[in-house]
Amino acid sequence: MSRRRRRGQRALRVLISAGPTREPIDPVRFLSNYSTGVMGSRLAAEALLRGHRVTVVYGPATEALPRGARCVSVERSVQMARAMRRYAPRADVVIMAAAVSDFRPAQRRRTKITRRGQMTLRLCATPDILGSLPRRPRQVVVGFALESARVAQRARRKLFGKHLDLLLAQQVSPARSPFGRRAVRAWLLDRSGQVTRLGVVSKSLVARALLDKIEALWYGQPRPEHP
Ligand code: C5P
Repeated sequence: MSRRRRRGQRALRVLISAGPTREPIDPVRFLSNYSTGVMGSRLAAEALLRGHRVTVVYGPATEALPRGARCVSVERSVQMARAMRRYAPRADVVIMAAAVSDFRPAQRRRTKITRRGQMTLRLCATPDILGSLPRRPRQVVVGFALESARVAQRARRKLFGKHLDLLLAQQVSPARSPFGRRAVRAWLLDRSGQVTRLGVVSKSLVARALLDKIEALWYGQPRPEHP
């Protein structure tokens, strides 16, 4: 079955963040995480396949992005915040799939720190990009969460805390890393708090499930369940 939007359904402007951020320590080193941007890239591909207009704000070392998406490259969380704030006011859908670094060095050294026996790095929290984006009426806002335990419970708290319409939660454990092209154990929460267990699924399937939900919120017509 074609997943292209039906006649009369207007193309949505979809803004997606993808990949990690890098928070510089000095001119040589940075703080980051293992995110590869595969999830954001699959989401962009799925949205384009359905005929939507896609902008991706992506961090460094991100998986190749599909042709047809407008791509905005950033490095630090502060740059990602600036780019998201710039594009969000015109977006019908905002999907914050980026693994924004939760901390950054309190101070960025101008010169390379020399090697020594021990050193202490002081960190401070980065601002919550998703929580502080300007919202427009009817805009659908989607967050991601990565949890080690009590996934659905913590995800529900995040969904309500950040006033999201949808939240895709994934589990990270020593046995199952969610990074790269691997399948993930995922849960999808909607704004009523209802939790759908997706099980262990590919990121392409996660993207399909999310776009199905987003389109149902926009067009008010749920698609038939895909296998
Ligand atoms: O609270 P937590 O970091 O788990 O929330 C995850 C969600 O918040 C993700 O959608 C992530 O992209 C977003 N986030 C953000 N700004 C941060 C940290 C996370 O927008 N500084």
